[in-house]
Amino acid sequence: MTPVTAESDLTIPIRVTGSRTARRRYVPTMPASDSEVVAAMRVNGALDLDDHQPDETFEWQKAAAKNQLGVDVDAIAELQTRLFAERRRAVLIVLQAMDAGGKDGVIRSVLTGINPAGITVHSFGVPTEEEAEHDFLWRHHVRCPRRGIIGVFNRSHYEAVLVERVKELVAPEVWRPRYAHIRDFERALTGAGTTVVKLHLNVSYEEQGRRLQDRIDTPEEQWKFRLGDLDDRKLWTAYREAYTDALRETSTADAAWYVVPGDPKWVRNLAVAKILRQTLEQLDPQYPEPEADLTGLKVT
Ligand code: ADP
Repeated sequence: MTPVTAESDLTIPIRVTGSRTARRRYVPTMPASDSEVVAAMRVNGALDLDDHQPDETFEWQKAAAKNQLGVDVDAIAELQTRLFAERRRAVLIVLQAMDAGGKDGVIRSVLTGINPAGITVHSFGVPTEEEAEHDFLWRHHVRCPRRGIIGVFNRSHYEAVLVERVKELVAPEVWRPRYAHIRDFERALTGAGTTVVKLHLNVSYEEQGRRLQDRIDTPEEQWKFRLGDLDDRKLWTAYREAYTDALRETSTADAAWYVVPGDPKWVRNLAVAKILRQTLEQLDPQYPEPEADLTGLKVT
């Protein structure tokens, strides 16, 4: 593997030349219509969450969705193998949603088929005493994916401008400057070769109600339900405001937010797969050169 000598080297795309090009090139590419859907979900500055419908289907057909998801997941798996082999860059997926918004479902459905050695998933709950005694980014920074890895934050540093703001766990003088700290943090990650992809699963109030009721009524689902979920539900409007501000303030060219329709699970999963696939296709990771010319080498 070519040693990395400076952080800036990490962002230089690796060009494969000569006779090996055809063998190494990643062939399938996402159709243009899918790229348009990804662009429609991307947050650009002036965000109004009401412009993003939780039950949007992008004219996709449910009957065909399972097959399409399979195609995208296969592509993601191949690209992830390349990312892992290349070992120069990383991807961080930030997953944020209201309770019952489908974060776990996305991890189960879209990240299936990926080599487990190449993925890390970390769920962030209420900070421990030790975590709370550090700056808010400390516990997140240490969990960021190393080179070659796709890391998932199931909840994330954004809770510091969501739950902490909405439940008034910290004063406005504390949470307001955090948007800038988050932008700087993510810029530092990007500069060091980590692509940051941020997904807000946009579930509706009505659908959240149905899912919470399901959890209450289904014995096998009850473990997912916390009484506190009902308190959070009462704060729905305040959470929407906090989400809107967070997404507006921190969606940057290098670390964009995407608002993913959250109500139909099949749309949500397919949409996330398209975003991840496009991100990886744009990274275009390459297998590294063999350490020597292997032409004609025979194993004896
Ligand atoms: P999830 O709801 O993600 O499936 P849990 O039921 O374990 O997982 O809930 C995690 C809880 O931790 C959430 O209620 C969330 O608001 C809370 N939490 C996460 N980060 C923070 C934070 N920085 N400060 C306070 N609470 C937090």
